[in-house]
Amino acid sequence: MIEMRGVDKHFGDLHVLQDIELTVGRGEVVVVIGPSGSGKSTLCRAINRLEPIERGTILIDGQPLPAEGKGLAKLRAEVGMVFQSFNLFAHKTVLQNVSLAQIKVRGRAKTEADAKSRSLLERVGLSAHADKYPAQLSGGQQQRVAIARALAMDPKALLFDEPTSALDPEMINEVLDVMRQLASEGMTMVVVTHEMGFARASANRVVFMADGRIVEDGAPEDFFSAPESERARDFLSKIL
Ligand code: ATP
Ligand code: MG
Repeated sequence: MIEMRGVDKHFGDLHVLQDIELTVGRGEVVVVIGPSGSGKSTLCRAINRLEPIERGTILIDGQPLPAEGKGLAKLRAEVGMVFQSFNLFAHKTVLQNVSLAQIKVRGRAKTEADAKSRSLLERVGLSAHADKYPAQLSGGQQQRVAIARALAMDPKALLFDEPTSALDPEMINEVLDVMRQLASEGMTMVVVTHEMGFARASANRVVFMADGRIVEDGAPEDFFSAPESERARDFLSKIL
């Protein structure tokens, strides 16, 4: 589904992605963890071409990433991304936020898009809020709108970059519940998160990054009980 082969990237002198090899199979949930600055967000953004790469290839469903134009918009629709900061349009209602790209990118009629939006809002528990503006919602509700918006494009995969990090603790679970549900339904997901409970329960694999490299890539039960590298042991001792 998602393949990264020999991917390299620098920010100036900083080698932020070093020879990255990563395969995410259809229906797999891969949780990416690692210290701050290790390259987790850059990895996610590279998959979606929000960050250009210098070397290597990224394949989605066996197809190389298009560099620009229509192909790129289509790719971004197929591999949705959910950010820490929600990134909703402040001057559009919840319903409009979920419908907009369906109309612009997928070419759906407004009535069709709105109907799909309403059913997705119901699925994330927000039917009653369709006509509100993002600022009228809690952080947890806004993040669920962002997930509904990504789902509205019928994505082949979803990328999550610390989707619960900006939330008050009592709102984290309502977002994780939606993510757990998606995982159990077979959505292909790459999730950068510090929520180790989610990683243990929902991930098929945990990828540990440090200094721009993938240091470990394995089953959660193996990773958490017996991390192979000193870096991972050190990281886990700080967060668990
Ligand atoms: P965090 O856990 O803090 O979110 P991360 O693992 O997501 O960290 P990245 O955001 O991928 O890390 O950043 C990796 C490194 O690249 C960091 O040292 C960061 O300062 C640097 N970096 C990120 N974006 C840029 C940029 N646009 N220009 C220059 N350096 C950048
Ligand atoms: Mg990050």
